[in-house]
Amino acid sequence: MSVLEIFKKICQLPHCSHEAHALKNHLIQEAKLCGYEVSVDAYDNILCAHPKAKLILQSHYDMVCIGEAPNLELYEEEGYLKAKNSSLGADNGIGIAMMLSLMRKNKCISCLFTANEEVGLIGAQNLSLPIKESLMLNLDTEEEGFVYIGCAGGTDVICTQPLRRSEIDEAVHSYHIIIDNLPGGHSGVDIHKSIPSALKELAAFLVHIPHYLISFEGGERRNSISKRASAVISVPEGVILDEKVGSLEIRALKDVHTQMIDKGHKISEMIHAFAQGVRSMDTKLNIVQNSINLALVHMDEDQIKISLSARSMDNEELLRLVDETMCFFKAFDFEVKSEGSYPAWKPEPNDFAYAVQTVCQKHFEKADFMAIHAGLECAILKSYAPHLDIASIGPNIYNPHSSRESVEITSVNKVYTALEEIVEKFSD
Ligand SMILES: [Zn+2]
Repeated sequence: MSVLEIFKKICQLPHCSHEAHALKNHLIQEAKLCGYEVSVDAYDNILCAHPKAKLILQSHYDMVCIGEAPNLELYEEEGYLKAKNSSLGADNGIGIAMMLSLMRKNKCISCLFTANEEVGLIGAQNLSLPIKESLMLNLDTEEEGFVYIGCAGGTDVICTQPLRRSEIDEAVHSYHIIIDNLPGGHSGVDIHKSIPSALKELAAFLVHIPHYLISFEGGERRNSISKRASAVISVPEGVILDEKVGSLEIRALKDVHTQMIDKGHKISEMIHAFAQGVRSMDTKLNIVQNSINLALVHMDEDQIKISLSARSMDNEELLRLVDETMCFFKAFDFEVKSEGSYPAWKPEPNDFAYAVQTVCQKHFEKADFMAIHAGLECAILKSYAPHLDIASIGPNIYNPHSSRESVEITSVNKVYTALEEIVEKFSD
């Protein structure tokens, strides 16, 4: 069976995050049939150990289910495999299929299948299986011809402040200001693309309007650049605003809001003053080194909450960035805390990465080292088993986590051929 045929079989077994039992059981059964010693931990990670292996391959076995998934109807189009009206799960199902194929050929490798990667790297974070191999190749990157050697770590920063309101003591009228048509994007891999943040655009407008702030909210998720934001303001009677300013839509309200947030203009000024986005670049790999995304602003009756996600390719620089961010918001009298930290996998090629690169150079036009400004399981696995030398490769996968996901079929074959050679090189 080819890798693609194995992948198609996997697609028949539901494996959305948190609901991957069918695939889990299949992997265990297959590994046992191939003579592996199989162990499963409390978080459903599966280790298939070969007694003589130096190299362990690793992929996550859950997928993001969008649209019709997990009922996948596969089709091929111009050399790409896709699923009708759903995500495909090539991320990371192709990696799983490659590992199954090699296991069936009785190669001298171990395999680690991790659970629930797509919902916060849960499997890797809670792994409790013994890894005795010294080299790990992860198969969860999505660009052939690159050998991945690093990824960003991250920490969320949460800032809160009680809100006090008082009566406005002059005649006002009120406006609702809305911005909801921005493209958004991932706060890691898209942060360098000059995508405007709705929250920042709104603040940039408000600071130049004499206003009393009634409410200010926006953002969708901690790990995305805000698409939507809105504010209600009251302005002195003589002040008239245009209906449209750039991407802002401004609606005059019939109701007049007279309960303002005390020092509300400070909130707009603070958000405007905050340096959103890329803070520094790694000029060697030409990737983002440090970044921060002001992701969410939420207000209720008596509190404002601001959530940010900081990322760095270096753990110490991440600590510094988080500390600076906390200090910034503390200066505006916010209470601050950090949560949801995960480590960086600092991009420094090891001997194993060089060996993988040498093989890949034979199969691809280029095989440059690369790192990604987002979290990969490699970082967590490296901190779990610091003795490991890790690298990552994978075939061309486009638009993962969406109903437009596709995988390039020739790329799967090429990466698999390179993988077989890598496995051969590190087998006894
Ligand atoms: Zn993945």
